Amino acid sequence: MHPIAKKDHQHIWHPFTQMQDWCKEEPIVIMSGKGAELEDQHGRRYLDANASIWTNLHGHGHPRINRAIRQQLGKIAHSSALGLANEPASLLAEQLVRNANPAKLFRKTSSSWKQSKLNKVFYSDDGATAMEAAFKLAYEHARRSGRSRKPKFLSIDHAYHGDTIGAVSVGQVDLFHRSFAGLLFPTDKVMSPYCYRCPFNRAKPDRVEARQQRKCQWECIGKIEKRFEAIQKKNRAYAGFVFEPVIQGVAGMIVQPKGWLERAATIARQARTPLIADEVMTGFGRTGSLFASHQENVQPDFLCLAKGMTGGYLPMAATLTTQVVYDSFLGPYDSYKSFFHGHSYTGNQLGAAASVASLALLKAPGAAVLRKGLACDFKEALDGLWESPFVGDVRHTGLVAGVELVRDWKTRLPWDLKKQVGIRVCREMADRGVLTRPIGNLIVLMPPYCCSTRQVRKMVDVLKQSIDAVLGKKRI
Ligand SMILES: *Cc1c(COP(=O)(O)O)cnc(C)c1O
Repeated sequence: MHPIAKKDHQHIWHPFTQMQDWCKEEPIVIMSGKGAELEDQHGRRYLDANASIWTNLHGHGHPRINRAIRQQLGKIAHSSALGLANEPASLLAEQLVRNANPAKLFRKTSSSWKQSKLNKVFYSDDGATAMEAAFKLAYEHARRSGRSRKPKFLSIDHAYHGDTIGAVSVGQVDLFHRSFAGLLFPTDKVMSPYCYRCPFNRAKPDRVEARQQRKCQWECIGKIEKRFEAIQKKNRAYAGFVFEPVIQGVAGMIVQPKGWLERAATIARQARTPLIADEVMTGFGRTGSLFASHQENVQPDFLCLAKGMTGGYLPMAATLTTQVVYDSFLGPYDSYKSFFHGHSYTGNQLGAAASVASLALLKAPGAAVLRKGLACDFKEALDGLWESPFVGDVRHTGLVAGVELVRDWKTRLPWDLKKQVGIRVCREMADRGVLTRPIGNLIVLMPPYCCSTRQVRKMVDVLKQSIDAVLGKKRI
């Protein structure tokens, strides 16, 4: 076994990993990366098909991001944001604000809620911490504005917002969360628009056509209306409606039907409920537009960003919010209204410098068109997967896809998790030079934006071969 692998086995405890299984075989040790490729301890190369757990945008070792980090390193790596300002964090905040307020959203004004600009940036380090900051701000804001003394949060079934206790409380993934139930604060949830397994979907499963035939009456939206009616009847209010816009990631790459978010957000707004958008995964172009909420004409009151913010180079996150929220924390020193919250690495210079460079790459002329073209090629390749009877659903938006494996496409019966179908398929994929990580029976493909059409096709081809290898080469 490679000496590094040995040390890993001896000392490292990996996240979301059954270590008993991990220690049975030599792990892949990543030694370097270039573009969409990673190289391991034996010189084997792989396509990074989950963008290093959804973080990487422009590929590894991008000269422009490397240069930005190096230049910043020549000045200083880190100084505290507690009591001190710094250059790259300020430049980044300006850039984030500029890009988070598209003009088209401000022409329409809602009567019940003054839509205000996202113009304040609170930095932290990870998706979970960006969410925690939003929760605390929204909670305190709801109390200070007199909306509720003990407001709750409303989130969507299967939601994942990170692994800190607040994020777990608002999250709704049973498998991850039930063992910590005793530590959590109560939250409410509404049904997820998981069309493939919709209890109201009465159409027979005949693939793409089924979705068109589905006599959808937006029952899921009706449920949200009822939820808000119920809380208003009790004379209570939510501190915030928390959602992953356009696509719920960990939930199973559940792509929301077009218009769902706009409707849901309108209902929340009518109930004067602030919107908390978790764009930790969807932010920075993953679903097409720079921020997914805007695709649905939704401007949240809190915009939480992390994963792709630095291009996938360094841990850094941001919670954007409005002047109204910011103002509710103002007052004389001895009113003690400051936001008592922060981290040692808040506003880190290296992360901010990388983020500014990454944003410049995203906004470069032609970049959006290139991404769109790649997303079309990706979609075309994915369509080939429907031929396998073990592929139940292929969900896709922009440059992210989830392929749900089932025992039989006609019955939609899921595989027992014990069978580790997803894990086995991903292992086969690794043997064929494509790295990704499953979520249960779902295979995730999330190519970095720098991929060529050939690379994206290879990811999908290898997935197909691997499904055949594990489950059998059947065709419908
Ligand atoms: C990954 C993720 C998080 C948590 O981010 P971390 O950086 O892992 O803490 C939160 N929300 C969504 C939607 C995510 O995909």
